Amino acid sequence: DGKNILPGNTTTCCYCGVGCGIVASKDIHNRITVEGDQQHPVNKGMLCSKGMNLHYTANDKSDRLLYPEMRYNKNMPLQRVSWDVALTRTAAVFKALIDKYGPDSVAFYASGQCLTEEYYVVNKLIKGFIGSNNIDTNSRLCMSSAVVGYKMSLGEDTVPISYDDIEIADCIFVAGANPAWCHPILWRRVETAKQKNPALRIIVSDPRKTQTCSLADLHLQLNPGTDITLHHAIGRCLIEDGKVDSHFILNSTSGYEDYRDNVFNTSVAAAAAICGVQESNIRLAASWIGNVKGFVTMWTMGLNQSVVGTHKNLSLINLNLITGHIGKPGSGPFSLTGQPNAMGGREVGGLSNLLPAHRNLANEHHRNEVEKFWQIPLGSIQPKPGLSATEMFDELGTGKLKAIWILCTNPLVSLPDVRTAEEGLKKAKFVVVQDISNKTETLKYADVVLPAAAWIEKEGTMTNAGRYISYLSKVTEAPGEALADAEIICRFARKMGYHGFDFKDASAIYDEHAALTAGTNIDISGLNYGILKEKRAVQWPYPKDEKGLGTARLFADHQFYTADKKAHILSFSDQNRSEALTPEHPLILTTGRIRDQWHTRSKTGKVNKLNQHISESFLEINPLDATPRNIKDNDLVEITSLRGNVRVRVKLSADIKSGVVFMPMHWGLILKSDLNRVNNLTNNLTDPISKEPDFKFTAVQVKIY
Ligand code: SF4
Repeated sequence: DGKNILPGNTTTCCYCGVGCGIVASKDIHNRITVEGDQQHPVNKGMLCSKGMNLHYTANDKSDRLLYPEMRYNKNMPLQRVSWDVALTRTAAVFKALIDKYGPDSVAFYASGQCLTEEYYVVNKLIKGFIGSNNIDTNSRLCMSSAVVGYKMSLGEDTVPISYDDIEIADCIFVAGANPAWCHPILWRRVETAKQKNPALRIIVSDPRKTQTCSLADLHLQLNPGTDITLHHAIGRCLIEDGKVDSHFILNSTSGYEDYRDNVFNTSVAAAAAICGVQESNIRLAASWIGNVKGFVTMWTMGLNQSVVGTHKNLSLINLNLITGHIGKPGSGPFSLTGQPNAMGGREVGGLSNLLPAHRNLANEHHRNEVEKFWQIPLGSIQPKPGLSATEMFDELGTGKLKAIWILCTNPLVSLPDVRTAEEGLKKAKFVVVQDISNKTETLKYADVVLPAAAWIEKEGTMTNAGRYISYLSKVTEAPGEALADAEIICRFARKMGYHGFDFKDASAIYDEHAALTAGTNIDISGLNYGILKEKRAVQWPYPKDEKGLGTARLFADHQFYTADKKAHILSFSDQNRSEALTPEHPLILTTGRIRDQWHTRSKTGKVNKLNQHISESFLEINPLDATPRNIKDNDLVEITSLRGNVRVRVKLSADIKSGVVFMPMHWGLILKSDLNRVNNLTNNLTDPISKEPDFKFTAVQVKIY
């Protein structure tokens, strides 16, 4: 009758970067049940609609990959093989390609949903043993601009605050984010804070009036691509009003004079015109920010997914720095991680330009530290960054990259300019797909298919948006012959003849990772699975002598991780460099998430309750743009860009700025047609520093179909 017969296991939600704690149990029919973990410091028992329905995805195994499959050439169908045959052949092909074309002829493309242990072993494999830095993940598509922004301003890829800070802030500036839908439990905490303290000021900047705006005291409905101009104008108002923290600026920062000169190049009135907002509202936002004790900036893809994403991040962090709102209660910059473990992946160096424990790939001493730790010859790790996510698929197309191993992600829905990416996969010599689902679009290009264990079928850890490291229990067995991702990578590494991959279990991988962080800014050498199980979640750093819940707030001493220990206030142009609008493509397409779907729907798309929220893709368009095109609500329209086209139905909405249209990112090929896949339209421009794609600005036309 649904009564639990086993004690619940604590685990962590596998969807968004909030990182909610879950108690997962089995009922008398051996089915998984889930409830919020009351003891977890992040969600305190709450779960959103996606988390509450996780048991449906866990129990429905109808779409699972069950056995390894392989084909010996592109003209053959895939056929079932043993693990030994699949991995022996994969190792033989990788060795042959590396021998003939060099280590950079192969690549791994992973995911912010991989567990930290999985990230660790795949990063160790390719950087340490294969000798290439061609490991990147879909975190490149969501967080890399924030990573670079933090490194350039604070000296380290680090979120300085804790979730508790948002409950004691007096002003929260949400820039380019819709946390009410995309980070729901975090937003519940903001709602509760607002109920308790109605004086809490909430400012939202977004071209769309989203659910988040219903809690806002001020919505700055800016034009896409003008965030830097807005942030500079607010900075100018703060300086004009004498609301900067001169003591903090003088003692703890560099670059202020250049910043001041830069923001004074544009009047507030001119900035308001560029942004398409009222000058009085910019001044109002600045007056609130300038008169509070605690100020939190909160942002996500609206800033990150931009051709100037790094500068958008820096321009917002600058507001914390000039006001001294960092390193003190209720204050600080707070990037909201999109995926559950994008931060954990970065901790182990899981991007093409990173090394474990936030070490610097370009630093020979750092490379040598890792080489000694991994017991490989000095010089094994290459100093040059590997290919980023989009570059990998481009280089498959040119033939420079020969083989790609895709794990835990569905790039043929999620990559920008996806038809070009698909051309790359068609030309690849060898494709390995490691996944849980037999329905992902990438499978049709696979030469080897490896069935992976899903959430709740494997043990490991993740780090959420607030540096909280959480443990995930294995609650049930994987179906068929599916294996945990880390186990698959380690078996492959041993087939390649590499030492250092004989881990007894996931806990042993974690211990090795933790030991490699000793003495760094993200030192977690005091942490192990036992502590994580007991405390549910702790915030790094967590060095050997730590006894509590880790480090809630960084930079309380105003000593930053830069070489001069100062925070860097950086100056740059506010110019956007997105694709130009033309008479043929006069509208700006922006893409994003909806409340009840996750990424490419391979999990949430299976749940009827979640599909009831919004059941198909759509185009949101303002009546001012629809009427001249003779478009009415629910009409089928064709949207075109220089790359391709899609056809979906229209939702008329005055909540989106005129001149801007919106489509969700979640829908894709679904075997019949790719015409609901928004990334047919998006462009391949990326931020030159972070290599993050410009998902939020594509020039399109919309016509009735
Ligand atoms: Fe899961 Fe995010 Fe919802 Fe929490 S807020 S239950 S982590 S999807």
